[in-house]
Amino acid sequence: MASYSEIISSMRTVFRAGKTKTYQWRKQQLNSILRCLDENRDQLSEALNKDLRKSKMESLVFEIDYCKNDAVEALNNLEEWMKPEKVKKGLMNMMDKAYIKREPFGVSLVIGAWNYPVQLTILPLIGAVAAGNCVIIKPSEISPATATVLEQILPKYLDNDCIKVINGGVPETTALLAERFDFIFYTGSTPVGKIVMQAASKYLTPVCLELGGKSPVYVDRNCDLSAVANRILWGKTCNSGQICIAPDYVMCQKEVQDELVTKLKDAIALFYPDGVEKSSDYCRIVSERHFQRIKKLVDNSKNVAIRGPVDEKDKFMGPTVVTDVTPDDITMQEEIFGPVLPIMPVRDANAAVDFINNREKPLAMYVFTNNKETVDNFTNNTSSGSLCINDVLMQAGLSSLPFGGVGSSGTGNYHGKFTFETFSHRRSVLQKELKMESVNSLRYPPFTEKKLNIISWLSTKKLKRAGLGTFLPYFVFGTIIAVVLKAVGLEKIVSYFK
Ligand code: NAD
Repeated sequence: MASYSEIISSMRTVFRAGKTKTYQWRKQQLNSILRCLDENRDQLSEALNKDLRKSKMESLVFEIDYCKNDAVEALNNLEEWMKPEKVKKGLMNMMDKAYIKREPFGVSLVIGAWNYPVQLTILPLIGAVAAGNCVIIKPSEISPATATVLEQILPKYLDNDCIKVINGGVPETTALLAERFDFIFYTGSTPVGKIVMQAASKYLTPVCLELGGKSPVYVDRNCDLSAVANRILWGKTCNSGQICIAPDYVMCQKEVQDELVTKLKDAIALFYPDGVEKSSDYCRIVSERHFQRIKKLVDNSKNVAIRGPVDEKDKFMGPTVVTDVTPDDITMQEEIFGPVLPIMPVRDANAAVDFINNREKPLAMYVFTNNKETVDNFTNNTSSGSLCINDVLMQAGLSSLPFGGVGSSGTGNYHGKFTFETFSHRRSVLQKELKMESVNSLRYPPFTEKKLNIISWLSTKKLKRAGLGTFLPYFVFGTIIAVVLKAVGLEKIVSYFK
């Protein structure tokens, strides 16, 4: 097999020859991705079941069909997305062309994580291809069955000169990161995100980092706690809580906590009537290491209000709720990434806002409330990658919303058109004619007071004023100027003043 640098160098040659830049190539690859997902849906579902015991529903809704939807959106809009974007021009440039051209970066690297091993590699691939990049995909080694299937199926459908799957663990990722890429898209933990960013800094390679962190939930008084419990439990049990935007911990007042625990017990009985251990809808923890990490959180917690059943051999742990948690507790130190829900009593919404603001900015934030003031309080006084009111996870299902973190939860975003934007460089283009030199000579020395006055008149921006009455004279004046300029020509007017 060729070395990584040989693979990248041959991809770069193909990229420079312009193969991936055409609309036809991009469309063909997107159609092939769709076909690949369709024709291999059973194989992918089986692999997801093997790695994480994902149910058919979770495999389709969160992985395979989720990716298909993004590919369809890209195919439906690609021509429009690729069009140069005309921009506003001032008087100085009214005869010129000015636009933004979306260009592919070149050879991109996509490093995926294990929890959604199809979605987290295929969604970036869709955007990378739509934007006209060559791509190397490095699926996570922690979901080996899915990584193997991706390595087997993708080359059968895609242009192998431009798109490659490379499997491996930390040594392989480290070796890839030592190479020069034109863009790096990484999904995974915040500590490894720092390693990726450091590697990228060697060549000042632009990055998109989709990281994690603790995503808080605030539950207000006077909510329908049955509905709240259903929604939080759903978010905490999808993929057994192994989701980057899973509700990590809950803050609420003490009396809300006690009722919420009762409602969570009801919700568990509702979701898993024959017991969670018998349910084929409930995933397993991905690895022994992660299982032991999550188990340690429960073993070292004082108030386990709901103790989910555990089967170590099967890496299985049922939904578990820990109450009366304090900021020093083990469950509040790091992202949980498992089916354990700590509840931390707080005085009120302001105390929750302060608590959030004293920590790293979360990837997602959830607020359950009927009160507009509480919504405004969290919306205006906190920061996070996303904010969802009265539900969890659902913001990620809307491809018209950018998905990504802020600060330590990530940089950059994707989904739908945003993935195309992320993998595109927005190049500014100003196209002038080699004419009207007398107008252009205004900016050349020797400088005179007259030249300065004309340049200032042509280029100084005016503050916008509210109200039609104030705006109208400017509009009329501007229109007259534009008509005169068009009719007489800027060149003549300027030479008249010189
Ligand atoms: P992981 O272990 O699968 O690692 C992700 C990738 O990083 C893998 O391809 C792996 O090979 C590579 N990697 C791991 N260690 C490395 C090292 N030392 N040097 C170089 N490369 C290395 O996944 P993970 O990090 O355990 O994923 C879980 C984390 O990812 C959680 O924090 C979660 O919140 C976050 N996550 C974020 C998103 C998002 O979209 N923001 C999605 C999924 C997961």
